[in-house]
Amino acid sequence: MKNLAIAGGTPLRTAPFTLRRTMGAEEKQAVNDVMDSDQLSSFFGSPGDQWLGGPKVKEFERKWADKYGFKHAISVNSWTTGLMTAVGAMGIGPGDEVIVSPYTMSASATAILFYGGIPVFADVDPDTYNLTAETIAARITPRTKAIMLVHIFGQACDMDPIMALARQHNLKVIEDGAQSPGVLYKGKPVGAIGDVGGFSLNYHKHIHTGEGGMLVTNDDDVALRCQLIRNHAENLVEAHGVQDLTNMIGSNYRLTELQAAIGIVQLDRLDGYLAQRRKLARHLEQALAGIEGIQTARVADGAEHAYYVYPIKYDAGVTGIPRALFVRAVNAELPTPGHPEQVGLSPAYVRPLYLAQLYQKKIAIGGKGFPWTVNPDVTYDYSKGSCPVVEKLHEEQMLLTMLVREPLTEADIDDFAAAIRKVLRHKDELPDELPAA
Ligand SMILES: *Cc1c(COP(=O)(O)O)cnc(C)c1O
Repeated sequence: MKNLAIAGGTPLRTAPFTLRRTMGAEEKQAVNDVMDSDQLSSFFGSPGDQWLGGPKVKEFERKWADKYGFKHAISVNSWTTGLMTAVGAMGIGPGDEVIVSPYTMSASATAILFYGGIPVFADVDPDTYNLTAETIAARITPRTKAIMLVHIFGQACDMDPIMALARQHNLKVIEDGAQSPGVLYKGKPVGAIGDVGGFSLNYHKHIHTGEGGMLVTNDDDVALRCQLIRNHAENLVEAHGVQDLTNMIGSNYRLTELQAAIGIVQLDRLDGYLAQRRKLARHLEQALAGIEGIQTARVADGAEHAYYVYPIKYDAGVTGIPRALFVRAVNAELPTPGHPEQVGLSPAYVRPLYLAQLYQKKIAIGGKGFPWTVNPDVTYDYSKGSCPVVEKLHEEQMLLTMLVREPLTEADIDDFAAAIRKVLRHKDELPDELPAA
């Protein structure tokens, strides 16, 4: 009789991991109150009282800003449109280069393209998976206008050296904090350490409003420009005395009162979620300590981590088990997931963004190569090999687990760690080839 489930043995655990339940009685009540008010949105795209939205939108923004000491918080209907708003507010235009990580959700880079900016991909640190001042510096040119930072998986970037570099080269800094709400860097909340940034409120993030996002900034002018882009800027610039018309074409990125009412309740839940994820992360690190070839998350000095997902760096050369086989064998020991959040281990995160057709063919806006055609003498290198650390993470090293998250417990984490140890202990039972799924 074999021990490993993948080889016909008994799985370590079959009882499913409890699925997170995101909406409670308070959210239901908040939604019903808005329904009773019949004001599902109070935005008007013209001058007057209502260009900044209704009471719930304003309350949600004030509450978020006050909780973290941001001067301004500006809600939007997704973080993708929030990123577009931030890029617009930074004055980025055709041919401007913006340095960004290729190891992030695609919108961190496409938001740049929507204004005709050109994403220039820099490599990441092999242990924090974030951009660093060194990797950014290697990509700065006379055309660089901004840096798009992503606090990936929830860990804050090392902001001090990055901000020093940005100031030295007169670059704007946008922070994509989609995965890191409430995270501090040296005591300061991420999001507005740079010029502008913010957070996603989609269903998969720590807290959510179905879809939504929250921009934050400490700069009055940037805040105004974000508010204008969110809501038909072209109709409002005169009323607000805006002289610089750069990117003052607005859109409709407005959050509804229903969503804002949910968000007001959700924000109160965030600290508890962060505390639980950090507790589970510490527990997992203890449970996996000392295993060769398994590197748990490394959190840099001064940075906090929110564990949107929990990253593990895997070395098949040390364990002697190919990554795909290891993932399959560990998951075979664990309950069959009924939902993506119940998956024990996944290999890799996203493919390095520059390998997408969009960048390989350089077709983004229209079909004639805009915005790259704005700089005809510059060669933009999106070839394989251009960010080797990210490529190695993607192809060989990265493992992610969704289990470091509420409402799971330390006992669940013990089972997950035991599954990993079991596979390593009985690796001689593993098949030579990956079995058919
Ligand atoms: C989720 C996410 C986004 C996009 O947020 P939406 O609210 O889904 O539009 C952008 N960047 C990162 C890093 C994300 O994780």
